[in-house]
Amino acid sequence: MALLPILEYPDERLRKVAKPLERIDAALQRLIDDMFETMYDAPGIGLAATQIDFHQQLIVMDVSEEKDQPLVFINARIVETEGSQTCQEGCLSVPTVFADVARAERVIVEALDRHGEAFRLDASGLLAVCIQHEMDHLAGKVFVDYLSPLKRQLVARKMDKRHRQQTPTRAAG
Ligand code: ZN
Repeated sequence: MALLPILEYPDERLRKVAKPLERIDAALQRLIDDMFETMYDAPGIGLAATQIDFHQQLIVMDVSEEKDQPLVFINARIVETEGSQTCQEGCLSVPTVFADVARAERVIVEALDRHGEAFRLDASGLLAVCIQHEMDHLAGKVFVDYLSPLKRQLVARKMDKRHRQQTPTRAAG
């Protein structure tokens, strides 16, 4: 297995819209394992393929305390939503930034698992938040899109500073 590089906001590749995944093969199983390893290592509770620059509808997730309930969603669709909740969210693509986002309290999702078997999941609370957050990634959306323009500006500045610190300057060779 291998750790995959995670794209960071405001990378334009986070804006690509993922296409339906068409082939479930051995290469995909390896990719799924690598995505889990990358997510657990970060550490995070969900990772959408968009974040590792793979633009097909694939999400891995584990919101359990013990990190022993891995979930894979292929070609997921939210077929029903109910209620609302506001939760403080973070994102592996926007490190160190946390903000309140309003989401549906409950969602019903239909998807394929890693073996291509169809399943239906009735999710609420944190799991429902995570599903909506990751499905947004596949649609080219990032959670900071929901913030006010002023807050988004602060986030952009923070990320810019972070990326400048990581990139060697020309003078340094
Ligand atoms: Zn995210």
